[in-house]
Amino acid sequence: MDNSVRNVVILGTGCSGLTAAIYAARANLKPLVLEGHEPGGQLSITTLVENFPGFPDGIQGPELIENIKKQAARFGAEYKMAHLISADFTKRPFVLNLGSEQILTRTMIIASGASARWLGLPSEQALIGHGVSSCATCDGFFFSGKPITVIGGGDSAMEEALFLTRFATKVTIIHRRDGFRASKIMLDRARQHPKIEFLTNTVIDEVHDVHKKEVTGLRLRNLKDGKQRDFPTSAMFLGIGHDPNTKWANGQLDTDADGYLITKNYVFTKIPGVFASGDVQDRRYRQAISAAGTGCMAALEVEKFLEEEGR
Ligand code: NAP
Repeated sequence: MDNSVRNVVILGTGCSGLTAAIYAARANLKPLVLEGHEPGGQLSITTLVENFPGFPDGIQGPELIENIKKQAARFGAEYKMAHLISADFTKRPFVLNLGSEQILTRTMIIASGASARWLGLPSEQALIGHGVSSCATCDGFFFSGKPITVIGGGDSAMEEALFLTRFATKVTIIHRRDGFRASKIMLDRARQHPKIEFLTNTVIDEVHDVHKKEVTGLRLRNLKDGKQRDFPTSAMFLGIGHDPNTKWANGQLDTDADGYLITKNYVFTKIPGVFASGDVQDRRYRQAISAAGTGCMAALEVEKFLEEEGR
């Protein structure tokens, strides 16, 4: 029985989980890393990362992730494609329910990140994969030579819009306010781009055309005068933020109102032996380097925790 209990299971293969895997593997803890629906996390759906230290010319997000993954594997990290359905933190070892099997573990690092948000319109949901997307780098190419719309007013929306100018004839950023959350540099880049235009104080009431199974346009509503109008476009990309992946925890851990895990001293959850790192517990910085930093801290705490237990 004892042999089948893992020292540490790491949930997530984004920058944070993989950095935790490097540290845990180098501490000889043979970490098991669970890779879910969005392998590689947000870096795997981004393009050039210019602010990760050590890469003076930048590095492509997917390449950075692949490198960290290989680095952890070199020291003995194991990977498993699996969707965590639930966990039982009321007993030791902890029991992780993967549906087809259960995994027992002495400690856990939750680095499950945050997933892209949707507007929640039925027409939007029906057209996901048919012109509605949350990943410009994945799907932008399909709309080469066509007009594209991006929703949102943060850095993600600006980044997506700038990336999509490679393919689109025109990119329209639609934002519900006239103030932006995006950093000045990103907003200025988007504003100065000849292919990008902005529609503010505007929301989407419907995505056309569910019957044709393709995006042909959007029903827009101006929030100032309430007037609706149809706006032709070939694709709608969402850049409206993310939701933390914590539903599986089912109330066993403390979260804020939006579901982000609450941690003390960076990575401690309220359950001894359960640590959290990266975007799932950090809604303030949300950077690759800060996610990697807390991943490192979580792994060091796991090592200390097991040592104190005499392992
Ligand atoms: P964000 O900063 O939270 O911005 C989300 C945007 O979407 C906001 O403008 C928000 O509008 C809008 N929005 C949210 N829900 C909406 C809805 N239901 N309908 C319409 N609009 C909606 O999220 P983010 O852009 O993903 O950025 C998250 C963090 O990652 C930030 O710290 C950002 O700096 C960072 N980031 C950095 C880079 C980079 O440096 N290259 C790239 C991407 C992200 P309101 O403003 O009205 O709330």
